[in-house]
Amino acid sequence: MYCCYNPKKLRLFLLIDIVILMLWMLCTAVGNVSAHKPRPDGIFLPVIMYHSITETASSDYQITPELFENDLCYLKLQGYETVSAAQLYAYTEGKGDLPAHPVMLTFDDGFYNNLSIVLPLLEQYDMCAVVSIVGEYTEVTAERDPHVDRYSYLTWDDVRQLQDSGRVEIGNHTWNLHSNDTRAGCSILYGEDASAYQKMLREDVGKVQSHAYEKTGHSPTVFAYPYGFICRESIPVLKELGFICTLTCYEKPNYITRDSDCLYGLFRYNRSPSLTTEDFFAKALSEN
Ligand SMILES: [Zn+2]
Repeated sequence: MYCCYNPKKLRLFLLIDIVILMLWMLCTAVGNVSAHKPRPDGIFLPVIMYHSITETASSDYQITPELFENDLCYLKLQGYETVSAAQLYAYTEGKGDLPAHPVMLTFDDGFYNNLSIVLPLLEQYDMCAVVSIVGEYTEVTAERDPHVDRYSYLTWDDVRQLQDSGRVEIGNHTWNLHSNDTRAGCSILYGEDASAYQKMLREDVGKVQSHAYEKTGHSPTVFAYPYGFICRESIPVLKELGFICTLTCYEKPNYITRDSDCLYGLFRYNRSPSLTTEDFFAKALSEN
C-alpha cells in the first residue's frame, strides 16, 4: 500500500481515498433509485425458480454450487433482498413493508442438496427461500435412498431441519401429481367434471398438508404448480387449503399490490445453467 513516511503525503492519500469512497456511494445510491421507479401497479418482484444444485449439473434444472453462489453474490451486490411468502402476504394485508428491491428464491421438487448445499449458502449471504416438496418423493423415495447430494430427495427429518433454520418456507408441490402421464401436472383434464377434479386435487394436495403437519408441526403455505400447468378450477381448492401464495412457470415480472390475490399465480424465471449470472439476471431482473 503506502510506503511513505511523510505525514503530509499520507494525509493526502487518505483524503483521496475518502473522496473516492463517497463518490462511489453516491453513484450506487443514484443508480439504485433510477433503476427501480415506483409503479402504480405495485412493487416489482422477480421470482427465481431453481431445482437441484449439484456439481454434476447436466440438465436445464440443475446448476453447480459455484454458479448458484455467483447468483447470490450478484443479487447482494445489486442491492436485492430476499423475501418470504409470509412477508409478501403481510405487505398485501397492509401489515408490513417490503425492502426497496425484493427478490424471491424458490426451489422445486425437494432435492436433498437444498439442505446440504443451498442452506449453508443462504446462511452465508443472509437470505431466505421457498423449497417445495413432492409428498411421495419425501415420504417414499427419500426414505429408500437418502443423502446423496446429486439425486436424493429430502426426508421429513431434512424438511424439519430446513424449516427450523428459519430461512426456508416449505412449499407443497403435490403428493403424486408431479407427472405428465395421466394429466398435465395437477391441471383439469379436457371434459373432466369440475367437482370430481376438485375432490381429487383436494385429496392429493391435502395429503402433503396433513403429513407435513404431522411430521414437522407445520403445513405449507405456498403451492408450486408441477411444470407450471395451472387451471382456474384449482384456485378455490388451494385457497380452501390455506395457501397464501401459488407459483407458476411463466417467465414474467410480478408487481405486488396491497391485494393478497396478487400472490396467486406468481411468475418465475427458471434458472438453467445455459446463461451466465449476468445474462440470466439481465432477463430475470428486467421490469419489462
Ligand atoms: Zn417440479
